[in-house]
Amino acid sequence: MGNRVAVLGAGPMGLAAAHELLKRGYQPVIFEADDRVGGMTAAFDFSGLTIERYYHFHCTSDTAFLEMLEELGIADRMRWTETRMAYWYRGRLQPWGNPIALLKFRGLGLLAKIRYGLFAFWCTRRNDWRPLDRVNARDWVLRWVGPQAYEILWRRLFEYKFYHFTDNLSAAWIWSRIRRLGRSRYNLFREKLGYLENGSDTYLQAAAAHIREKGGIIRLKSPVAKVHLRDGAVHAVETEGLMERFDRVISTVPLPFVPRLIPDLPRPVLDAYASVDNIAVVCVIVKLSRALSENFWVNINDPEMDIPGLVEYTNLQPLENHVVYVPYYLPGDHPSFGQPDEWFTERVCRYIRTINPELGEGDILDVRASRYRFAQPICDPGFSSKLPPADLPVEGLWVADTSYYYPEDRGISESIAFGRKLAVMATSC
Ligand SMILES: Cc1cc2nc3c(=O)[nH]c(=O)nc-3n(C[C@H](O)[C@H](O)[C@H](O)COP(=O)(O)OP(=O)(O)OC[C@H]3O[C@@H](n4cnc5c(N)ncnc54)[C@H](O)[C@@H]3O)c2cc1C
Repeated sequence: MGNRVAVLGAGPMGLAAAHELLKRGYQPVIFEADDRVGGMTAAFDFSGLTIERYYHFHCTSDTAFLEMLEELGIADRMRWTETRMAYWYRGRLQPWGNPIALLKFRGLGLLAKIRYGLFAFWCTRRNDWRPLDRVNARDWVLRWVGPQAYEILWRRLFEYKFYHFTDNLSAAWIWSRIRRLGRSRYNLFREKLGYLENGSDTYLQAAAAHIREKGGIIRLKSPVAKVHLRDGAVHAVETEGLMERFDRVISTVPLPFVPRLIPDLPRPVLDAYASVDNIAVVCVIVKLSRALSENFWVNINDPEMDIPGLVEYTNLQPLENHVVYVPYYLPGDHPSFGQPDEWFTERVCRYIRTINPELGEGDILDVRASRYRFAQPICDPGFSSKLPPADLPVEGLWVADTSYYYPEDRGISESIAFGRKLAVMATSC
């Protein structure tokens, strides 16, 4: 096999694959549809502030990310903060995220609190996900915490994140999220989350500069139209009518795009890709002249608000103004996903002012919305055996996206680790 390698997608996974390919002596060409690198981590100009379209925080377990920062020489830009959580319930913000907060929580009986506490404790201690792979997450949570705690603390979070998929999620996948957050702490009472100075863009620019310096090529605004196969092997990559010969292709674009890009894959492979559902996101970002609260993360259970929570990013990374993200996760075919940005921004401004009535209209300095159609694969019970291997039965072709590191949830660190793994596979033959 020859050495011409193409990487599709310049999100964290594609960039990490290219980084590893360069270390191994290959000079990849990265094709990126967008006009910037980053995928879900990409930044935009928010009236003078360069900030990511979607919030990102890091946990102490993000080893692959931290190792990459070392390799890029930017580990000293990583910061750790003691963050706070709250629950918006019955018209008030209640502290959340530690045993004292749980005991003091208003609206939940003592038995429900004890059951919830045991569940959270057990999730952070457990290591083996396999027995949970085929278990239904909603039934599993309900069994542990009981109907009252499920109704108050879980039901709306599930339903506003997963909608009709709520009834068919893998318990292993939900557990891995609880564990990741639950283990990122100074101690039982103090949460510890991290950020990069100036956000993910610091990593993206360093990664892209390193790739270019070492001889890799990044082609922006270059959506791949088709990967051509010939005699059971990769032959060429087509972009806007231009065909380029490649011997190896690593695809990191969201899986739902792959059947269109590589239609000549075997039918069972295409069917497996098509069987993975994805949730879309419309993420509203608000710039405020003063703080909404002192919390980084606020879970929401309020019949008047159609959101599972919000993230006050500047309580993690302090900035000149205060920045709040409010994600609307929606199935792609949900009628709300077709609503204009103003529909979302108007609601969010209203909710924010309900949570903190001291915020006046003049305190909202700017508000925008960003959309990503394939923001989150849905991992149903038995997901571990659903996907074909990334190393496909086509010579020179490797395909993956964020669903490939199940049971871990999509994350920058996980995408980096998997991107490197793809490069290792692609250069070991
Ligand atoms: C609202 C939100 C909050 C998040 N919060 C966190 C967090 O706090 N911490 C964390 O670690 N992670 C978080 N994530 C997840 C994190 O952003 C993703 O896991 C990560 O960006 C995935 O990287 P990727 O490279 O695997 O995929 P992507 O970022 O999806 O990159 C895929 C790339 O492929 C490109 N592409 C698509 N089609 C084509 C084509 N035809 N040709 C060429 N290129 C193409 C896309 O433009 C994109 O750049 C969050 C995500 C969202 C949406």
